[in-house]
Amino acid sequence: MKPEELLQQLQHHPDFLKLTLAHPDFLPFASYQLENGTQIQIWDTGVIYCLPKQFGTQDIVLSSGVHGNETAPVELCSELLNDVLAEKLLLKERVLFLFGNPPAINAGVREIQDNLNRLFSGHHSKEPGVQSAERERAKKLETYVLKFFDEAPQGLRERKLYDLHTAIRGSRFEKFAVYPFLHGENWSKTQFEFLKACGANTVLLMQTPASTFSYFAAQSCKAHGFTIELGKVRPFGQNDMSRFTQAASALRALISGGELYTTEFNEADFNLYEVRRSINKATEAFTLHFADNIENFTTFDVGTLLASDEGVEYKVEVEGEAIIFPNPKVAIGQRAMLMVKPVSVAGKVS
Ligand SMILES: [Zn+2]
Repeated sequence: MKPEELLQQLQHHPDFLKLTLAHPDFLPFASYQLENGTQIQIWDTGVIYCLPKQFGTQDIVLSSGVHGNETAPVELCSELLNDVLAEKLLLKERVLFLFGNPPAINAGVREIQDNLNRLFSGHHSKEPGVQSAERERAKKLETYVLKFFDEAPQGLRERKLYDLHTAIRGSRFEKFAVYPFLHGENWSKTQFEFLKACGANTVLLMQTPASTFSYFAAQSCKAHGFTIELGKVRPFGQNDMSRFTQAASALRALISGGELYTTEFNEADFNLYEVRRSINKATEAFTLHFADNIENFTTFDVGTLLASDEGVEYKVEVEGEAIIFPNPKVAIGQRAMLMVKPVSVAGKVS
């Protein structure tokens, strides 16, 4: 597809997700200006940069579809973006919209070959000779995000990356955020307040580096980066979008200078967890010993057998230990489940 053709189609029918899914592997660079003065630049398939004529001090990346079957965030972001393109929504900040894995979105699967959210911070190139579309994509997404932040005007600016997901199973707390490891720096009060405005007052605080997009944003870009889980995975057309209204309104307000309904940070309003241990799948014998409908953040009695692998049993070790992200289908050597426990951030927020 030629750039002129791309622009003609987009201007005729301002639906960038549709164009992305029709061309999941490549779109050429193209740019144009909306009548309201907003500059639009297409950087790649699923990657579109919006620069309003007048903008504030935030540089905001909104990412969805890093896992292809997590459709609600894709629909939510597409709606925001289409309103920008159709000039129904006037941006007040620089925004980069990313649809992470278009081929996987088309196929309705989490990934084609590799879990894209395990390939950032250089993990895409850690096994020389191993190639996949997801490894290539992770490398490119890193480049686009760095370029977006680097090209911001000089001065005191706030960098943000919200990577929106839905989880494989239900959750005791429907919406929750993963706050990447900050290497000992304080957690941000204003970010907790924003997460709560999105309806995500459950936050998992990580204590180790990770290969996720949000850790890359936090560590390599010095951005406020978050993985935000908005609910449960469902196919396109089967999402009850009313369950996402609060998050959609908060994100819309964030990028367009609207009112954010935040309240001052008070730890009592939150369910805060930290990771106690990470359980990896060592062999094909890895099995979970609880039902598929057991929700994230469920707790069990001490001593309950949760999972087993060749020659090893994983049991609940302490009171309050809860499961999160159990997935026996991960590749050998990858994380199959996290065990978390409640934690306080007193003295560690600012
Ligand atoms: Zn996901």
